[in-house]
Amino acid sequence: MELTVLGSGTSIPHLRRASPGFWLDTDNHKVLLDIGPDIPHRMAEEKLNWPELDAIWVSHFHLDHFGGLPPFLFSLRWAPQTANRRKPLTIIGPADLQKVLTSIDDSNNYRLFSQRFPVEVIEVRPDEQFEFVPGVLAHTMKTPHTKESLALGLTASDDKRFVYTSDTGFTEEIILFAKNADVLLMECSFRRNKPLQTHLELNEAMSLARECHAEKVILTHLYPEWDEADIVADSRRLWQGHVIEAQDGLVVKI
Ligand SMILES: [Zn+2]
Ligand SMILES: [Zn+2]
Repeated sequence: MELTVLGSGTSIPHLRRASPGFWLDTDNHKVLLDIGPDIPHRMAEEKLNWPELDAIWVSHFHLDHFGGLPPFLFSLRWAPQTANRRKPLTIIGPADLQKVLTSIDDSNNYRLFSQRFPVEVIEVRPDEQFEFVPGVLAHTMKTPHTKESLALGLTASDDKRFVYTSDTGFTEEIILFAKNADVLLMECSFRRNKPLQTHLELNEAMSLARECHAEKVILTHLYPEWDEADIVADSRRLWQGHVIEAQDGLVVKI
C-alpha cells in the first residue's frame, strides 16, 4: 500500500496544512481516509485519480474530517471526468452515517445519491471486522473522541498492517489495536498541556507508540502551535523509534 498525506492539519485554516484526508493506494483500489473540506481540491492538486476512487472512510462527523464529502458527491454528479463511470463508490463509517448524509441531502434537494454510478453507504460498529476493498481487511476500534468516532486498522494481502487513529483521546486500547503495525498514523494535536481530553499530546502519543512497537509512526492532526516546534526532535526525547511528521504531499510506502 502507499499513503499520500492530503491534509496534516485540523479545522483551523492554515497555509501549509489542509484539513484531514489521506489517500491510500492498495493493490488494485484507491481509497480515501477522511475527507475534510479541503480534500476534494487537494486530490486534484496532487494529481490523484479521484474519478476512480473506490471507497471513502469517515472516522467521525466532525466537519474537519467529513465536511468535504457532500461537496465531493455534488461535484461527482457534474464532473466530466466521471461521465462514463459505472463502478460503485462505497462510503464506510460509523452508525448514523446514512442519516447525517440524508439530512444534508434533503436540506436543499442536492440529490447527492443520484449519480451515474451506485453510491453505497455502509455503517460499521466498533470492533467490527470487514473487507474494506477486495484484498484489504479492516478492523475498527471505538476511540474516546465523539460518541461515534472510530479508529481503523487495515491489513493488505501482503500482511502489511496500517492503523489510522483519526481523532482520539488517550486510551491504552490503542496499544493492542495498533500492535506491530507497519505504519501507525496517529493524531498528535498538541505539544503539551492539552486543552481537550479528547485529543492527544506528544508524551501520550509517544507512550502509545513505544508500547505498540509500530515500525513507523506518522504524527498528524497538527494544530498551529506545532508551527513553532520541531515535532520529530521533540518526539525523540521521549521515544527513539521511527517518527515522521505528516506534511501535506508526503508519500509513505506501507
Ligand atoms: Zn479533527
Ligand atoms: Zn474530531
